Amino acid sequence: MTGTTSTFRPAETRKRVVKNGITHLFVPGPTNVPEDVRQALNVPMQDMRAPDFGDLTLGLFSDLKKVFKTETGRVIMFPGSGTGAWEAAITNTLSPGDKVLMARFGQFSSLWVEMAERLGLDVEVVDVAWGAGTPVAEFARRLQDDTRGRIKAVFVTHNETATGVTSDVAAVRRALNEAYHDALLFVDGVSSVASIDFRMDEWGVDLAVAGSQKGLMLPAGLGILAVSEKGLEASKSATSRRAYFRFEDMLGMNETGYFPYTPPTQLLIGLRTSLDRLFAEGLENVFARHHRLAEGVRRGVAAWGYNLVAEAPCWYSDTVSAIRVPQDVDAREVIATAYNKYRTSLGTGLAQLAGKAFRIGHLGDLNEVMCLSALAAAEMALVDSGAKIELGSGVGAAQAWYCDAGNQAEHSIAAE
Ligand SMILES: *Cc1c(COP(=O)(O)O)cnc(C)c1O
Repeated sequence: MTGTTSTFRPAETRKRVVKNGITHLFVPGPTNVPEDVRQALNVPMQDMRAPDFGDLTLGLFSDLKKVFKTETGRVIMFPGSGTGAWEAAITNTLSPGDKVLMARFGQFSSLWVEMAERLGLDVEVVDVAWGAGTPVAEFARRLQDDTRGRIKAVFVTHNETATGVTSDVAAVRRALNEAYHDALLFVDGVSSVASIDFRMDEWGVDLAVAGSQKGLMLPAGLGILAVSEKGLEASKSATSRRAYFRFEDMLGMNETGYFPYTPPTQLLIGLRTSLDRLFAEGLENVFARHHRLAEGVRRGVAAWGYNLVAEAPCWYSDTVSAIRVPQDVDAREVIATAYNKYRTSLGTGLAQLAGKAFRIGHLGDLNEVMCLSALAAAEMALVDSGAKIELGSGVGAAQAWYCDAGNQAEHSIAAE
């Protein structure tokens, strides 16, 4: 046989590809899994009906509540991904034909609209140019006008991962309150929860969606949902069909730490370690670190003379930066070169941003030098792709910021 790649061939005829060093992952999910979390995942299979299984899981539920900042809500973990948690949130609390208010300003907010439509909701969509976020004033106007309370839910994509735009959830809550409107508030926090401040109870969020593979620094596989008391109440009368994702099945079993079907036990054990890490660092410090690291990346981008997709500082995301390239540079080439030549994964420009932008994901288990390496690889790939930037310019700007901000951070910890 010719062209065979059988591993049964003699060793000396097998092609061996040696890659030195690590591959660098800067996509905004899945994120880098810390070494201790990876090792925690490596355990023998667990008995998910063992008498002491609840010792693990009950602590996870209560600690995830701290991450969402909710005391009155319930946390549910579905085997699945963030998209599954979106579906669970909708089908458990809304009925076909229900009017919902959503905005579309990036790939993820667009997909959420599409899902709501597929599930038979009557979606009132506000289209916003990509680069801005949830249009609070427009939402406020529509809520004020809805005197008969036909809008049953308002949806907010807290952090639009496609454009690197963070929306103001608290402002949407204020708009609801000022209109005396009792619609449910849905928030997609998949790329914000555990990285950017998220305050479920304070913001009156009813359905908060997260996933395991972003801020929680785990492999994909858990769709995580926090549900308010009002959300739970709504689930009693909502008539959307749901089977696998039915809240009641989960909540009843979860009371004692068990699941109605096989949970991904390894991920739950890994989650224990990632939560321990988050609390050891302190959630507020985690948010401050994300801000500090993101600001360095932004300064690097500014030093190249490039713009972010995010239109104004009020929208800047601390977990992902989407970077516009000049018209004579193809962002797809930049991403391919970074991967092939420098073993660095950058995020692609999604949908209308394809070829026009690339993204640097800066969330999860990350530090200053890692962000510098992302900028360094991007600079080389940009130059290789014909960009007229000066090598080292972005790295230098970020270094200057990290030296400075690092000192400040250290001083503030020492002062505590
Ligand atoms: C990643 C992401 C999703 C999709 O989550 P999956 O886990 O891939 O299903 C949804 N929304 C946002 C904002 C995301 O970043």
